[in-house]
Amino acid sequence: MTSKRPTPQPGILDIAPYVPGRSAAAPGVTPIKLSSNESPLGASPRAIAAFRSVADHLEVYPEGTSKVLRVALAQVHGIDVERIVCGNGSDDLLHLLAQCYLGEGDEAVMSQYGFSVYPIVTMAAGARIIMAPEAEYRSDVDALLAAVTPRTKMVFLANPNNPTGTYLSAAEVARLHAGLRGDILLVIDSAYAEYVTAADYSVGIDLVDSADNVVMVRTFSKMGLAAARIGWMYGPEHLVDVINRIRGPFNVNLAGQLAAAEATRDTPFNDKLRQHNAQWRDWLTTELASNRLQVLPSQANFVLVLFPSEAEANAAFDALMAKGLIVRQVGAAYGIPNGLRISIGSEAAMRGVVDILKTTVGR
Ligand SMILES: *Cc1c(COP(=O)(O)O)cnc(C)c1O
Repeated sequence: MTSKRPTPQPGILDIAPYVPGRSAAAPGVTPIKLSSNESPLGASPRAIAAFRSVADHLEVYPEGTSKVLRVALAQVHGIDVERIVCGNGSDDLLHLLAQCYLGEGDEAVMSQYGFSVYPIVTMAAGARIIMAPEAEYRSDVDALLAAVTPRTKMVFLANPNNPTGTYLSAAEVARLHAGLRGDILLVIDSAYAEYVTAADYSVGIDLVDSADNVVMVRTFSKMGLAAARIGWMYGPEHLVDVINRIRGPFNVNLAGQLAAAEATRDTPFNDKLRQHNAQWRDWLTTELASNRLQVLPSQANFVLVLFPSEAEANAAFDALMAKGLIVRQVGAAYGIPNGLRISIGSEAAMRGVVDILKTTVGR
């Protein structure tokens, strides 16, 4: 008997499922989650109030284009409200970009240790993902350009990158763009833009404004609103028109739209989060760097710590876990088995991490 059942499109079953950060600690231990780069200071109080305000009218569809949020973003960032598209997290937008601009026979290029969602959206669209090698865990412009072929249709760049935390300067990103054909879309994923302190960084708005083949993708997830699932992108008019044709007509829920609009305008909260992050990111980097541990210089809200061996990374992971400190192993998803990615958390969490790592690994 022939067994007949629906078959997914080619490529779908080759996709390795996304591995999320762990969130359960040992029994009886209070978990402190440092595995998903969430805000250690909660959300903007203005955003929380806006989110709650929706509860009495759950029967009403949201406004479909996220107008309130786009207006807030346009004002705060000084950009054109008509060239912003909001999404159900930036993952939603990455999928839409891949679906619109990639297909069978096409290739997308990304950096070796780039964000693990890029292969998923590329393969879901039927295209091939090509990895460009990195040196010292940093995206390499020459390697990315060398990976381009006549089949290349898209280049993904997370800047700063997750899980490494490293970044490319504005000049390096401009050089990458200058080396790409006009029919290749450069996707600049600035998920951690709010946390960058480097003076030579550019979020990508200038490049979007100067070219027809660049789009910037952003998220509120790392700024206190991960549960609300809000992402946005800024691109050229022709691309925005394309994305809006297939975007779900009500892809962003109303509570999220209102919360994110308030969060966009809550400068005091955002400044506090940025300052907290910069202070404890520097502290953690200095405290952990030793003969035995390498801490990659991070511009994001986490650091990637490299251990002398996979066994030592696993031992450190277990020791942290036993105290409820949940960090992220980056072997399976990213091929860095001796690395642990640690989100910047509260002062107590950061001191706890340092105490445990100093005793388990030594200096
Ligand atoms: C966290 C993250 C995102 C997106 O997250 P959403 O929660 O889907 O908005 C996108 N890119 C990178 C590099 C990230 O680390």
